[in-house]
Amino acid sequence: MKINNLVIAIDGTAASGKGTLGKKLAESYKIPYLDTGNLYRSVASLMLSANVDLNDQEIAIKIAKSLDLKTVNVFNNRNIEVTNASSLIAQFEGVRNVLLDFQREFAKDGAVVDGRDIGTVVLPSSDHKFYITASSEVRAIRRFEQYKENNEKIDLKTIKYDIEARDKRDKERIIAPLKIADDAIIIDTTNLSIKSVFDFAVMHIDNK
Ligand code: C5P
Repeated sequence: MKINNLVIAIDGTAASGKGTLGKKLAESYKIPYLDTGNLYRSVASLMLSANVDLNDQEIAIKIAKSLDLKTVNVFNNRNIEVTNASSLIAQFEGVRNVLLDFQREFAKDGAVVDGRDIGTVVLPSSDHKFYITASSEVRAIRRFEQYKENNEKIDLKTIKYDIEARDKRDKERIIAPLKIADDAIIIDTTNLSIKSVFDFAVMHIDNK
């Protein structure tokens, strides 16, 4: 089993459990974890608070360049307005290019990295690639429970709409769309517990 410089790519649909699996794997293999959705959400959030046009690619690039990338794992804003805006600005090639080098640099000595284009574009030679998904109903319910825990009142219908709209936009965009890498292991978590998803992924990593 390779431990040093182990690179694990996790892609998949919105709220599918990528982050939960990613954090657990990172902890288990003692390597850093990067939630790349956070990078796009950070840019979106800064654009929203500056009240600038979300269609303005030049401003989005400027903001992406100004990000303090060392703090992104801490930021983590999943407000619905931010998540929706993040998938809009994630369509800009210029924004994706600015964030690309940081993601590669982060993973160079081994990491678990989750997102939409990790196994296909960011780290195509990852040691292991997983594609995580689940029915949109189950994903919406799980996200609803997370919001409730954080005392955020958002109705289930709005969450499901956000998830489905983002999936569609992420899959249909021209630059680095969400798709299953040829060599990815697909895990549908609809009927699986967190533990069974984790055990299944570990089994694949340790047996490869
Ligand atoms: O992972 P999360 O759902 O927080 O990501 C928010 C949005 O950021 C996604 O809907 C997607 O548009 C964008 N994203 C992306 N590429 C990644 C990670 C996230 O385009 N690697």
